[in-house]
Amino acid sequence: MTTFTDLNIPQDIVRAMNGMGWEEPTPVQVAAIPEGLKGGDLFAQAQTGTGKTGTYGSIIIGRIKAGMRSPSALVLAPTRELANQVSEELNKLSAYTGHRCIPIYGGVGVEPQANKLRKGVDIVVATPGRTRDLIDRKDLDLSKISIVVLDEADRMLDMGFARDLSYILSKVPRKRQTMLFSATMSEDIRELAMDQMVNPQELLVSRDEPVLDLTTQYFLMVERNAKNDALTTILDDGQPKAIVFCNAKHRADRLAKKLQAYGYKAGTIHGNVAQNKREKVIKEFKDGSIRILVATDVAARGLDIDAVDLVLNYDVPNETDTYVHRIGRTGRAGAEGTAISFFMEEERKMIRDIEVRTGKPIHPLEITIVHRPEPEPRPHAAAHIVPRDSRRSSSRAGNGKANGRNLVEINFGMIDKLTKGEIANMVKRGANLNPREVGLITMGERRTRIEIVGKDAKKVSADLSASTYRGRPVEARLV
Ligand code: AMP
Repeated sequence: MTTFTDLNIPQDIVRAMNGMGWEEPTPVQVAAIPEGLKGGDLFAQAQTGTGKTGTYGSIIIGRIKAGMRSPSALVLAPTRELANQVSEELNKLSAYTGHRCIPIYGGVGVEPQANKLRKGVDIVVATPGRTRDLIDRKDLDLSKISIVVLDEADRMLDMGFARDLSYILSKVPRKRQTMLFSATMSEDIRELAMDQMVNPQELLVSRDEPVLDLTTQYFLMVERNAKNDALTTILDDGQPKAIVFCNAKHRADRLAKKLQAYGYKAGTIHGNVAQNKREKVIKEFKDGSIRILVATDVAARGLDIDAVDLVLNYDVPNETDTYVHRIGRTGRAGAEGTAISFFMEEERKMIRDIEVRTGKPIHPLEITIVHRPEPEPRPHAAAHIVPRDSRRSSSRAGNGKANGRNLVEINFGMIDKLTKGEIANMVKRGANLNPREVGLITMGERRTRIEIVGKDAKKVSADLSASTYRGRPVEARLV
């Protein structure tokens, strides 16, 4: 068995690795660390879960001095989540060497990051956009950088960071060590590598990546409108800790809300979810207070979450590489995992493509799908709108009259990302009501019920139906 010491990793780092519970190096670490510690460039096709952060982390920490004023190493990563995660891991690896590492990313205030830089750090792990800002503000000095890592380089190009990357790299001394990691290989990646590196060691982590070894893959042929029932049937069986992938932000949003309405502990992360919210959701998923994480690819890339029982492709991705990435989130760290993908008839051909790509069979999933009725709209407290006394009535009554008050249902709901305040305004304006005449507001996924207090709800409904909101006709009816 190869040990960390066999790879010439300094003892202080090996000690930290042992403290992190690492017993032996992963294949990427065995292949890349000895050359990397000598200062050679590295061009590696390796995915999350293979130990790539530990690879370049031990090379960086093994080669740069701790306690310098300007950073000596720069790691560029596509997302804030990855930047955070890498920075955390590098700080752990530096437990006995004293290197200081900070993450830098957009979407949060720039000053605290600039302050930390001014105090002096050794390693900066950053997303390209914010890096550029800090260079322009003269808060980030790259003139002493001797090691650059491009982590998930393919994703950085996909996200449109090519120009930022070349700008940033033009500010780093030409004489340096460069390491590029990419999950996929394309012409663009090769070009970037050839541009930035000198005679790199090339490494391909073999197709039967360890990440897939412990994962059993299934497919289910399902029509679009049966996906929800299929999903809840699966989630009800054994209550797995699951990541559910959708191909679009709005689909992820809608699905998470639907699951929540059914009573599942679900959260969502995608590109439009604010940074602090994303971090909160990920933390809750890690600590188990959320069991189901509905995600899109960009948001989930590079997330380091162990003990995921199930990865479910609610939408199959367009690329087989994306598929491999997604299902690499389960079956990690020695635990067994399951991957289930919903295919629609027109996507059937992809099953074979994936089998070829992964070198493993995808089995048909045998289940009986249980139909779930639509969740009832959940009554939400509408504290800022409703006069206290009008809340006592139940809005669920079906005849348009609830304790003498009437209910109107409109064709806008949570899916339209409206707050209750906005709904109240829409109703007040559309039917010329005063605030006291708008009672309890109960938002459902696509529809909202509004209690009309002391006014003829039929007339309100007719007035609303003649109005528009955000360019869309309002359809109202008495319920
Ligand atoms: P990465 O590929 O960098 O995303 O790493 C995936 C996970 O494997 C992280 O949680 C690392 O902390 C962990 N890891 C990296 N190297 C080793 C190792 N040699 N032994 C055990 N765990 C490791």
